[in-house]
Amino acid sequence: MKIPKSHPRYDSLMRRETLVRAWKAGIVVPEGLIAHGRGEAFDYLFGERTIAPALVAERAGAAWLLRAKRPVLSVNGNVAALSAREVVRLARSIPARIEVNLFHRSEARVRRIRQLLERVGARNVLGERPNARVPGLESKRALSHREGVYGADVVLVPLEDGDRAEALVRMEKVVISVDLNPFSRTTRTASIPVVDELSRALLNIHRFAQELRDDPKEITRLTRTYDKDRNMAALYSFLRLGLNGVRATGGTRGRRRP
Ligand code: ATP
Repeated sequence: MKIPKSHPRYDSLMRRETLVRAWKAGIVVPEGLIAHGRGEAFDYLFGERTIAPALVAERAGAAWLLRAKRPVLSVNGNVAALSAREVVRLARSIPARIEVNLFHRSEARVRRIRQLLERVGARNVLGERPNARVPGLESKRALSHREGVYGADVVLVPLEDGDRAEALVRMEKVVISVDLNPFSRTTRTASIPVVDELSRALLNIHRFAQELRDDPKEITRLTRTYDKDRNMAALYSFLRLGLNGVRATGGTRGRRRP
């Protein structure tokens, strides 16, 4: 389907098309399409833009990734379909390892995602032939690599499920999540929850990493001063203000709210 560039929700519709194509190519599972729909609903509430508290979390996340000894970016089907290039660019600039991790795991899908990442420049992607298990997880999401997520000190887990986020926090890792749902278990559990749309979040984290890389003092300051509770409180008040704004104007088309 050809979507006109002038459509007010062009980016969002393009993301849907991309996901459907990735589903046909065996990268995304149908359950991933449902999860995306939930993300879209929250993005609509935020006005389909990055709100200020998300920027604060993205900057802190960049600082933690730069400070890490063993940073790892975790990739699932939706992440590969929507943002393979952004993941690879971020991995290069930190530098960090990439590990493919799937809830609905099949070896063929792990391989296809690894190949997709390699086509846009990734090297040494982990995921096939796992050699460790994240303790406390029954699902195939437990499968991991000692030189990847299992052994990491800081992990970026975009579009994660709550069980694994909790298990990784229990392993005392710094867990940076990207999830538009401000109430998900992932968001509530992560050390640094980024409540923003995936591709915007990855672009911002990359931009902040570029800015911060030669500024160790600012990196240390950010990792010391980031306060999850305050950040989430700010995020909830943005959400409240946004909803009040919709009520006051009687419509949902004021795209630049709150
Ligand atoms: P939890 O266990 O954390 O409570 P869940 O397991 O129900 O959540 P999933 O079904 O794994 O969550 O879905 C992952 C989450 O990713 C959803 O909460 C959804 O809001 C979010 N999401 C989906 N697409 C995007 C996207 N493009 N950008 C950011 N977040 C997204």
